[in-house]
Amino acid sequence: MKYQNNLTFAKQQDSEDSLSYLRNRFHIPRDKNGEEWLYFTGNSLGLQPKATKNYINQELEDWANLGVEGHFEAKNPWLHYHEYLTDKMAKIVGAKPQEVVMMNSLTVNLHLLMVSFYRPTTSKYKIVIESDAFPSDRYAVQSQLEFHGFSKEDVIEWKPRKGEELLQIEDLEEIVSKQGDEIALLLIGGVNYYTGQFLDLKRIAEIGHSKNCVVGIDLAHGAGNIQPNLHESGVDFAAWCSYKYLNAGPGSLSGIFVHEKHARNKDLPRFAGWWNHNKETRFNMRQPFDVMEGAEGWQLSNPPILSMAAILASLDLFEEVGMEKLRQKSEKLTGYFEFLVKEIDSEDIKIITPKNPKERGCQLSIQVKNADKSLHQKLMEQHVITDWREPDVIRCAPVPFYNSFEDVFIFTEILKEIL
Ligand SMILES: *Cc1c(COP(=O)(O)O)cnc(C)c1O
Repeated sequence: MKYQNNLTFAKQQDSEDSLSYLRNRFHIPRDKNGEEWLYFTGNSLGLQPKATKNYINQELEDWANLGVEGHFEAKNPWLHYHEYLTDKMAKIVGAKPQEVVMMNSLTVNLHLLMVSFYRPTTSKYKIVIESDAFPSDRYAVQSQLEFHGFSKEDVIEWKPRKGEELLQIEDLEEIVSKQGDEIALLLIGGVNYYTGQFLDLKRIAEIGHSKNCVVGIDLAHGAGNIQPNLHESGVDFAAWCSYKYLNAGPGSLSGIFVHEKHARNKDLPRFAGWWNHNKETRFNMRQPFDVMEGAEGWQLSNPPILSMAAILASLDLFEEVGMEKLRQKSEKLTGYFEFLVKEIDSEDIKIITPKNPKERGCQLSIQVKNADKSLHQKLMEQHVITDWREPDVIRCAPVPFYNSFEDVFIFTEILKEIL
């Protein structure tokens, strides 16, 4: 693809983009004077689809009119509501429907999955994470170690090499081949939140399994962004949130994936509640616990319908467009963004995200020499919302649903000016 550094080219790309109509399906935040922000933080909180309100209103109305009967009589009976999400969600992450369910929040789910999949013994108990793992994931694994009577120090970090920013798969291979007998679990961010690096999940699964380590993936920055092909990758489990690229609203529910190979293993230890008990006899009460097969067998509680309505609104948009098309546009859009940032030709900035489009999603992380948060502030003053991460990185994510080539062009012009 030959890119050009001018507004006419950017506008031309937008006019040829078969997905450009989708921007109008979202609310773009505006300032007091009604001017649109340049929104580059879909990696942190995805924008609201205009349809979301109707989906939630439907459930509010059914609740008002039907009360408890809504569980059966609502237009979308609440009793089965989580099932309306499953097929659509499974397609987005490349899983079989039985492998996926939406429930709880992300960190809660990481813990629930570790209850089943982190089964340390006195000799095989360590956990591998990336050295710049998201803090919540680090705290979660540290607390699991301590909960089982081990120490925080029993976390093994997969680090970039000296002077580098990105992880190399060979280094994970070395960690596992040398220390694999002591390692119980690999819990890795499939797309790193800081660098935007999209790791080879299949390779990670193979490496972990070669030494009988369980492999779990955090896809918070991957779901709705890249195509992780979870089933095919062979990882044991995964979890993600729905408020980043999945546009389901602040704090919305998390999705989990449990590979089919574990679907019928009723001996896997797990916590129980009425929602992972056999659907057929759930309401007979007083029955001995009979766990459901598949990912649904990790649910505990009846789920929040209002939050799920927002998820359904968003998943219906994904269903309408399909991940293939979104990903195609995303590669082109982020490629253009990268081209323009390089054209700024300043010693002071460096993109730390991988150059290969197959090893990244839409996010570019730009490292800024000697910068402090004032750069971020100046961007805000110019109507650009990006996300500043200490010590020196701005993360910018042009999202194929609602960002345009023009957005990317104007943003880099502003950045050039500020620098
Ligand atoms: C966003 C994110 C979280 C947030 O966890 P919550 O439980 O939803 O607050 C955790 N881990 C990663 C990798 C994330 O990107």
